[in-house]
Amino acid sequence: MNIEVERVWDLQQVVSQLADRERLLSVKPESFAAIDAEYQSANEEMQKLEQSLETMSKERRRVDGELQEQQEVLKKYQGNLMQVKNQQQYAAAWKEIDATRKQVKELEDAVLKSMTDAEAVQKQLDERRAGFDELKARYDASHAEWQSSLSDLRSELEVLRTKQEQIESGISEKLKREFWRVAKHRGGVAVARVDGETCSGCRTRIRPALAQQLKRGELVKCEGCSRILYPETTES
Ligand SMILES: [Zn+2]
Repeated sequence: MNIEVERVWDLQQVVSQLADRERLLSVKPESFAAIDAEYQSANEEMQKLEQSLETMSKERRRVDGELQEQQEVLKKYQGNLMQVKNQQQYAAAWKEIDATRKQVKELEDAVLKSMTDAEAVQKQLDERRAGFDELKARYDASHAEWQSSLSDLRSELEVLRTKQEQIESGISEKLKREFWRVAKHRGGVAVARVDGETCSGCRTRIRPALAQQLKRGELVKCEGCSRILYPETTES
């Protein structure tokens, strides 16, 4: 058999193995993807709870400030009450005191309510945090496992790349260019084995004249997909 065809066939095997491993490198394994999703959503939920606590505490500071102001106002009105000179002024002062007291009461209620709400959110956050250490430990372990499996893959890739270089050094520049041109347009597969007198890459039938050329050890390309044909190895 044509030695160069033999070499491009070997090159194709290595190139396909490389592609497989490169794909594996870029994909999160299912085992990690599941825990990763759980971890990210727990993180997001805690962040949301922290944010709403933050918003609530801002709002409470605002209401607290208003409450203090109204309490000052109330004191002032109560002081005024001592200085009224007649029944009319007395009634007017009381009216203001009543209105302000009402406002103070409303603000006090609002502060209480916001404290209760914040406690409930804080409780949820505490519960989340309590379970988070265990989740993080599982996440870290799974991540480390994935990374160590990647390091095996990476060393396999290195071995394959060396092999690829060795094989390529035995192939003429012209054929190498041809190989990569076809590989680029045919999903990384530039060499196809003949299988039952058809191209295994595209199922095009090999004409008898081409089959003869192949038998003689010539370099033949598929008429359907332009892939370099690798003869059926019933005889050698
Ligand atoms: Zn073909």
